[in-house]
Amino acid sequence: MKVWVDPERCQGHTLCSMIAPDAFELDDIDGHSSAVFDEVPPELEDKVREAAQSCPECAIFIDADSSGDPAKPEKSRETTS
Ligand code: SF4
Repeated sequence: MKVWVDPERCQGHTLCSMIAPDAFELDDIDGHSSAVFDEVPPELEDKVREAAQSCPECAIFIDADSSGDPAKPEKSRETTS
């Protein structure tokens, strides 16, 4: 499962780092969040999903190709037919 934070959406509410402190880190200067891991360790996946669902700015994106449905719809997922 992959996770990333959209820096343009993130407003530094810190909820993600409170829910999953091992998975998100906050910038010392602007307080914006970024994902610690590109590929989330399995033991942190539930917390990362919870953080994504709790983000008031919908700034956290998950690609759960191999482990279930994404917590949020993809912002610009392209489909090919
Ligand atoms: S909860 Fe959302 S808006 Fe708040 S710091 Fe985390 S990613 Fe940014």
